Amino acid sequence: MSLAAMQVPVSRNQDAVSAVVDILSGRFGDRCSTSGAVRQQHGHTTTWLPNQAPDAVVFAETTEEAADVVRLCHEHGVPVIPFGTGSSLEGHVNAPGGGISLDLSRMNQILAVNAEDLDCRVQAGVTRKQLNAFLRDTGLFFPIDPGADASLGGMAATRASGTNAVRYGTMKDVVLGLTVITASGEIIKTGGRAKKSSAGYDLTRLFVGSEGTLGVITELTLRLFGQPEAISGGVCPFPDIESACNAVIMTIQCGLPVARIELLDEMQVKACNSYSKLSLEETPTLFLEFHGTEAGVKEQAELFEAIAGDCGGGTFQWTAQAEERTQLWTARHDAYWSSFVLRPGAKGVSTDTCVPISRLAECVMATKQDLQENNLLGTIVGHVGDGNFHVLVLVDEDNPDEIAATEAFVERLNWRAIDMGGTCTGEHGVGQGKMKYLKREHGAALDTMRAIKAALDPKNIMNPGKVLPPA
Ligand SMILES: Cc1cc2nc3c(=O)[nH]c(=O)nc-3n(C[C@H](O)[C@H](O)[C@H](O)COP(=O)(O)OP(=O)(O)OC[C@H]3O[C@@H](n4cnc5c(N)ncnc54)[C@H](O)[C@@H]3O)c2cc1C
Repeated sequence: MSLAAMQVPVSRNQDAVSAVVDILSGRFGDRCSTSGAVRQQHGHTTTWLPNQAPDAVVFAETTEEAADVVRLCHEHGVPVIPFGTGSSLEGHVNAPGGGISLDLSRMNQILAVNAEDLDCRVQAGVTRKQLNAFLRDTGLFFPIDPGADASLGGMAATRASGTNAVRYGTMKDVVLGLTVITASGEIIKTGGRAKKSSAGYDLTRLFVGSEGTLGVITELTLRLFGQPEAISGGVCPFPDIESACNAVIMTIQCGLPVARIELLDEMQVKACNSYSKLSLEETPTLFLEFHGTEAGVKEQAELFEAIAGDCGGGTFQWTAQAEERTQLWTARHDAYWSSFVLRPGAKGVSTDTCVPISRLAECVMATKQDLQENNLLGTIVGHVGDGNFHVLVLVDEDNPDEIAATEAFVERLNWRAIDMGGTCTGEHGVGQGKMKYLKREHGAALDTMRAIKAALDPKNIMNPGKVLPPA
């Protein structure tokens, strides 16, 4: 199945590609792979977008090696597509004009942990779970938790977030500095270890979210946080989506410092019950977590209970038991995969809209109604404390009418979010799949983005055909 994603034509010079692949094979030996399986695995594999494989994959082990690859590609005008773990959802790592996939997964060293300053320095291929396993005995943790065990370089490149973002922010808030290879192969450092700086343009935040289209991130300085003294969490059922969303809105508006507040609609709860062996009431449900002192988390839980009661919620069942919490959050992180139990064999089409919190209930309800009116089966799950939610539409890929209806639904959802002052992507990024919405979202600012791209990558070799739609 393939839905209509905008494709930007990327010119291809076969002689230049062949010359570059020959040189890289000589230089890197079996760390430069042209095997069909490896190339395909480095194209897009996670969703409905077609796979567009690169011509070769180079596994870099140092910043200097990665810079050599970029310099060579720059000289010959050949595309370079940085690759972390390939968990992105919008065709980000596809190679529409071929070229070299620069795989950073072997750059997986944790270089320094400065516990007293609450920061660390890592290579781009370190994954979020690897970092947290390393930090376990230090009393610190790294909070950004997309559903996949993504690389920190990839997470910075997509400006990722997850269930903790409502309390700890997204990658834009936790990246202090970067080592970046520019499109011409120069190695630069952005930012530093200071918690704040007014020194010049904020290049760190320019590269965060640039999806490999401006340069290659090889090292990151990241903020860390102290593990909370106490954690409690639980689930609260609601009679309908509106009352659940209203409880979220009130919770955020009254400044309750929730660490996590996630909405699962009744279909998603049903899927989680079956896949993760839970026994929750199959109704719209909020999953919550509170971080703080023993007394603080108790107080937060009681305050939330009162808000939920005012909004018509059922009993808030909460626990401070680590095992029960882990089971719940593992189920939440597996929500994407669990949805497929509702329609075995279906393909999933994932969305990622985010709206101002005051519009959350309206947007989720309109979306739910849209699904129903068009006889589409989908689950809704979201980091709703940020106004961010995902619909996973389960589609029969042999049914053209259903594909067309899904495509139209996704478009309406994105327009709806943008028209409410929101965005077509809260955290997954643009890749190929979201390019067609950027004009409506950014207007003339898109030309400023094009000017930045042209200035930093005049030969258009860095992940071409992504993020920016044609003028
Ligand atoms: C089941 C599932 C659940 C998910 N849940 C979430 C979620 O909750 N929140 C969320 O934000 N995302 C989520 N995602 C999406 C995905 O995990 C994130 O986008 C993640 O940040 C991608 O990291 P990666 O290492 O896999 O990057 P890749 O997919 O390898 O690359 C993503 C993009 O970044 C570029 N890139 C990668 N590494 C670098 C680098 N070192 N330098 C420059 N550019 C680079 C690539 O060229 C590409 O454009 C989910 C995905 C799945 C499959």
